[in-house]
Amino acid sequence: MTFAGYICRTCGVQFAESAEPPEECPVCLDERQYVGTDGQLWTTPDELRQQHQADIREEEPGLTGIGMKPSFAIGQRALLLETPDGNVLWDCIPLLAEEMVSFVRSRGGLAAIAISHPHYYASLVEWGSTFDARVYLHQADSRWVMRQDPCVHFWSGEECELLPDVKLLRLGGHFAGGTVLHWRGGEKAGTLLSGDVVQVVADRRWLSFMRSYPNYIPLSDAEVQAIRNLCEFST
Ligand SMILES: [Zn+2]
Ligand SMILES: [Zn+2]
Repeated sequence: MTFAGYICRTCGVQFAESAEPPEECPVCLDERQYVGTDGQLWTTPDELRQQHQADIREEEPGLTGIGMKPSFAIGQRALLLETPDGNVLWDCIPLLAEEMVSFVRSRGGLAAIAISHPHYYASLVEWGSTFDARVYLHQADSRWVMRQDPCVHFWSGEECELLPDVKLLRLGGHFAGGTVLHWRGGEKAGTLLSGDVVQVVADRRWLSFMRSYPNYIPLSDAEVQAIRNLCEFST
């Protein structure tokens, strides 16, 4: 019997359908992630739905967090961004629960899904196909897609206009295709959704960047400067 694609318990990425769990998870074997001391562990979409629930929280008008409780993998959370021209799901999570589907549908569905980097690829095909939405991933990270599907759309270059007030910017750094989303709207007339490509530190007065957060691998001066230059260019 073939199961819906297995999901890596450590990073939350879903693989293509297979009868047996994959031998290994390339995302976790990469130096930016890790394989836990118990080795590679797997779950399935059905098991996730039995063990976890939706955690939906409004952050501000037009911006709602969609996560899982209890937390799973690296604690991914997606954000539903609502605009007059359509809704965008920013980043993705491993679980697609009925409560999430009905919530997103009640807000008008999805015009697009965009993901910052491979640690948030999660169950992107389940989300993309359920909402009949294109999933925008940067071409530079195409090797990290573990489940191919027609809903996946690779973009290239430094910018991609998703909607009139929403554009994607490739900053690189943490991953070669590391992407942030700039929304010319929201409560503060300009919002940057950044995954962990750009990290607000506890102090809140400044930002920082890492190649790997769990393994404390920094980015070089030159890479940080390149991100800074791109941000200045884009404002
Ligand atoms: Zn993994
Ligand atoms: Zn990451």
